[in-house]
Amino acid sequence: MTPSRCLVFRGAELILPPEGAERITDERIIIEGIPLDTVYPAFRPEDIKRFDVPAADRSAVLPCFSLVKNAATPLGWRNIPLRTLISGLAVEDASGLALVFRACHILQWLSESRFCGSCGSENTVDDLAMTRLCPACGRVEYPRVSPAVIVRITNENGEILLAHDKKFKEKIYSLIAGFYEAGERLEDTVEREIFEEVALSVKNIRYIASQSWPFPNSLMIGFSADYSHGEIRCDGVEIEDAGWFNRENLPPLPGHGSIARFLIEEWRGNAPPLRGGM
Ligand SMILES: [Zn+2]
Repeated sequence: MTPSRCLVFRGAELILPPEGAERITDERIIIEGIPLDTVYPAFRPEDIKRFDVPAADRSAVLPCFSLVKNAATPLGWRNIPLRTLISGLAVEDASGLALVFRACHILQWLSESRFCGSCGSENTVDDLAMTRLCPACGRVEYPRVSPAVIVRITNENGEILLAHDKKFKEKIYSLIAGFYEAGERLEDTVEREIFEEVALSVKNIRYIASQSWPFPNSLMIGFSADYSHGEIRCDGVEIEDAGWFNRENLPPLPGHGSIARFLIEEWRGNAPPLRGGM
């Protein structure tokens, strides 16, 4: 992305120019950005805040704007959740997407960490170290990351366990996932989440891959595990339905570009590189 181009975020949404104005698809806009000179005329200065997000290795910088929550979207501009655009990107876009994910994560964190969590003073930003500093008490705050595990469970009949979570908007089936609890090893999180959600026990837990998932601040850590014992019993709170599926009778699956789909496709022998996580 050239420095003359940028992205506008509101939380995990991208604010995109009127359809057709850029003559490229919305998916390409994620990677290529929008012209910097289209932003200032479209938004009131008090509604946007510029923050240039450096790549983690400082090899690139992505100029970004954060639109305040209650500001109106300019006429013709559109709010599109970033996550809905991922599956339409080419595999080669993964490294560009990683910087966009990082920017989305950091901008949300900056808007939620304005004040020191210890003494309540207004924090400053060290944009080289990408930290918040409290000028009154010296507290340093780093971007908040919430680790979550996601696990592909298979059995000796060559089947995979897939579950429908109540919070899924569509009738898709995915892998068991859940947030890390303080004090656990990641393997403990995997075992606990599986037992809580479907009452199964597993063995041979192995790390496979991870993906930044800034919706709003997760790191998804992907594992595989072998079924050990137990009968499927859905918790009814998060998981509504779960079952074993073979490669020929898979239900509707999560979209491409997510680690869930990557882990499922890898099991099918058909894994594209992971988006946003390379
Ligand atoms: Zn403080």
